[in-house]
Amino acid sequence: MSTADDIAASVGQRPLPLPDNVSAPYWEAAARGEVLYQECPACGQRQFYPRALCTACAAEPQWRTASGRGTVHTFTVVRQNWAEPFRELAPYVVAIVELEEGPRMMSNVTGCAPEAVHIGMPVEAYTIAVDGLGVPFWRPADTG
Ligand SMILES: [Zn+2]
Repeated sequence: MSTADDIAASVGQRPLPLPDNVSAPYWEAAARGEVLYQECPACGQRQFYPRALCTACAAEPQWRTASGRGTVHTFTVVRQNWAEPFRELAPYVVAIVELEEGPRMMSNVTGCAPEAVHIGMPVEAYTIAVDGLGVPFWRPADTG
């Protein structure tokens, strides 16, 4: 039987990200507990996933540290996944979270039952580090 937090705790058993020259700062920052996105110094475009060029004007984007606050833009509940280690972890939530800075990123929402997740739900980021890389996750925001 799984809990909503097991999906995050399974990071060490999953295939890890393969950082390249563009994405390495993102994964390294997540290992320090930070979530990064890119912002263009020329036109202000904010973007995620990491890219070598601004998608609006092709200038070289700069890294910005997100507040770690966001909302669930959309999500699904995965109820079957036959690949290890996910097989024992279902049901779990895969969500597109919109950062308060604008960019959207995909991850798991943990820390609550899948049935409690809803569009527009305030969430906050946390990261789990394995082998020098961090992976961001989201949990219900402490709104109190
Ligand atoms: Zn730009």
